Amino acid sequence: MNFPVELIALLLILIAFFAGFVLARRGAERSRGAQVDKLRRSYFRGLNYLLNEQPDKAIEVFLQIAEVDKHTIETHLALGNLFRRRGETDRAIRVHQNLIARPNLTSEQKSLALLELGEDYMRAGLLDRAETLFTDLVSIDTHAATALRQLISVCQQERDWTRGIEFARRLEKTAGEPQSELIAQFLCELSDGKERAGKLDEARRLLAEARMVAPGAVRGYAQESKLAYARQDDPICIEFGARALELDAELTPELMPLIVEAFDRSGQSERAEAFLENAMLRYPGVSPVLAKSRRIAEREGDEAAIRFLSERLKSRPSVRGLAALVDLQIKTSDGAARDQLNSLRELLTRLIRAQSAYRCSKCGFGAKQQHWQCPGCKSWATVRPVHGVAGD
Ligand SMILES: [Zn+2]
Repeated sequence: MNFPVELIALLLILIAFFAGFVLARRGAERSRGAQVDKLRRSYFRGLNYLLNEQPDKAIEVFLQIAEVDKHTIETHLALGNLFRRRGETDRAIRVHQNLIARPNLTSEQKSLALLELGEDYMRAGLLDRAETLFTDLVSIDTHAATALRQLISVCQQERDWTRGIEFARRLEKTAGEPQSELIAQFLCELSDGKERAGKLDEARRLLAEARMVAPGAVRGYAQESKLAYARQDDPICIEFGARALELDAELTPELMPLIVEAFDRSGQSERAEAFLENAMLRYPGVSPVLAKSRRIAEREGDEAAIRFLSERLKSRPSVRGLAALVDLQIKTSDGAARDQLNSLRELLTRLIRAQSAYRCSKCGFGAKQQHWQCPGCKSWATVRPVHGVAGD
């Protein structure tokens, strides 16, 4: 249904105004108790209609509400939400600002409207204003937990990880909600920043802090392993990489190549083999199989690698595995057969390119590479490798 949202706004505001006017004249002759119950029920009914995109029915309900409720605070809150949901943040801001300017609001009503206004500001990208507003709510200790959650969200958008950590610690104290995993993510982000600035000691110190705050959070180990790989500290790369994979085998595509190389360049190719065997058992994707196949090709030749891959692909079909098999067969063929295999390889390349290698388990965002924070829904540690025939 596509009901012009301006019309709804206009109607509701007129109704609110008109109903207030009529009721003021009628005086307080009705009994309030039963009325409040009825209003509450009607309000939720109206809100449901709005959420289900049935604005005409919502208007009908809000008409009834406006008829008996001289304040129509809830109506305006619902209306503001509707605007924000539709991305009309300017209008949402106006509705909530008008509400806050009313002289007769209870302090609870006012803080609810302030929370809504803060969310409008965030949606509109007015982060400074949102931050001021939520900070005020925290300082007067009204809806402090909700306001702190929003402040954390503002800090994430501004990539201000240091203040994000402060707010997360306050939220832990205020609401008793553990935030250690989020704090560890923020510490790892700070570490990333130090790494980019070439301050590697500080980067490592922050990773150690992340592991101390949340010993079960994988990122602090994974990043430590990568830093060690870059400075060719193979024992540390292997130790922290293996620990990361114990905590989360889904990081195999990211960490396996580093760990295998660290084993090889420190002269431990047998341990590299054992590591790959273990990875094939623990990780459902094709990455370790491909790595193993490349090693077989180097050591025993292409024919042996073809036998190994064909056997593996029978039990677990995979487009990427097939592409690797075709690559090997191109090397061992010539003439018309080689041309045909080249065409097939092109087709497989296109299939692989069309597929997202990673996907967010929360919002479905598809990505070519691994992200600690989903670029779509901003959740942490929800972007995972895609498995199955077309995935890893
Ligand atoms: Zn997501």
